Amino acid sequence: MALDLIIRNARLSSAGPDNPAVDIGVRGGTIVAVEPNLAGDGPEHDARGKLVSPGLIESHFHLDKAMIIDRVPMQPDRMVRDHMKRTASIKHTFTAEDIYARAEATIEQCVLHGVTHMRTQVEVDPNVGLLGFEVIEQLRKDYAWAIDIQPCVFLQEGWTDVPGADENLVHCLNRGAPVVGGGIRYDKDGPGQIRRVFELAQHYDIDVDFHLDGGHDVKNPDYPQVCEITDRIRWQGRVAFGHGSRFSCMPVKEQAAVGKRLGESGVSLAVLPATDLFNGGRHMEHSVMRGVTDANTLIEHGANCTISTNNVLNPFTPYGDCSLTRIANLYANVVQRYGPKDLGVCFEMITDRAAKVMRLGDYGIEVGKAADLVVWNEELPSDVIAKCALPLAGFKRGRRIFLRELPTLQRPR
Ligand SMILES: [Zn+2]
Repeated sequence: MALDLIIRNARLSSAGPDNPAVDIGVRGGTIVAVEPNLAGDGPEHDARGKLVSPGLIESHFHLDKAMIIDRVPMQPDRMVRDHMKRTASIKHTFTAEDIYARAEATIEQCVLHGVTHMRTQVEVDPNVGLLGFEVIEQLRKDYAWAIDIQPCVFLQEGWTDVPGADENLVHCLNRGAPVVGGGIRYDKDGPGQIRRVFELAQHYDIDVDFHLDGGHDVKNPDYPQVCEITDRIRWQGRVAFGHGSRFSCMPVKEQAAVGKRLGESGVSLAVLPATDLFNGGRHMEHSVMRGVTDANTLIEHGANCTISTNNVLNPFTPYGDCSLTRIANLYANVVQRYGPKDLGVCFEMITDRAAKVMRLGDYGIEVGKAADLVVWNEELPSDVIAKCALPLAGFKRGRRIFLRELPTLQRPR
């Protein structure tokens, strides 16, 4: 059998520690065989018995405002929560070339860390208009060889009371944006925004991805309204939201109820540990709360959850190397989860569980699925999270898109 690629000696993420390594055969960008000692001819990549997983997925990202931290005024005081305002203050300086260059550099770093799919939030507030949307559309085409980018258009700085905001968003949906988002923290009428998002989702038959239930106030959470509308219009499996940091301030019994409710409605949560750790607890001078929800608990009670980077080098998160395994490790460390089982779930949250949110039908290591693959220097998915592992090689539809050499120690002779 003539093949375009054979990955030899691959340990699959679904396999237990004693399962034998397999070979993965690829033709025309698709996996056509997964079996030991595959008989076939073609270019080979030896995984040396180490883990091969599907590509990583950033389920909640902001490409358009990445890498701006050097242009934004410094925060005057740790206890001031002004990251949105400081970001907004420089948005008038954004140009198409500028957004393209920053987002391109960010995408390349994500790809080098094993990411083959991304849902990126795209702001279309009147102060940037359609600039970000058009640039992301261009990048989506230019980087299709390495990554599938799914834009989610939304209004960061308010919607229901902002002249021109709704028109911008509708314009993007008319041009084919596949997901509509929401950011209700800065809207005068949060529930009104939620209703409008679902109205558009139904009209355009598209998926929904909000920013909800951030902060630490556990009174009047946003998710019940979202679940109620999701159930009513039968949008189960098509609705996600990011943050949910409030849930970390609830007793575990109440967190379990949240997990159960989200699971029943098919509403997913993306936990964003870097951003929530950086911004949470600013009202506390000492013994600062963490504000990162234990997604493992919500999953145990029926919800689907993911872990994602969200922001890179901007006032929302002034750090970032675009390593999703580092973010998952940060999450596990903060919520005090470890070991093969719990860290295995963390790995699912940056692979299979995120694929469910993006409704990727051709994702996974199975015959007939897209050959979007990552080779690790580890044996188990939990090791990847525990060690913030860096991938050794990545493949997009069977074509190798990066290689990483292991460092070697230079011992004295
Ligand atoms: Zn976000």
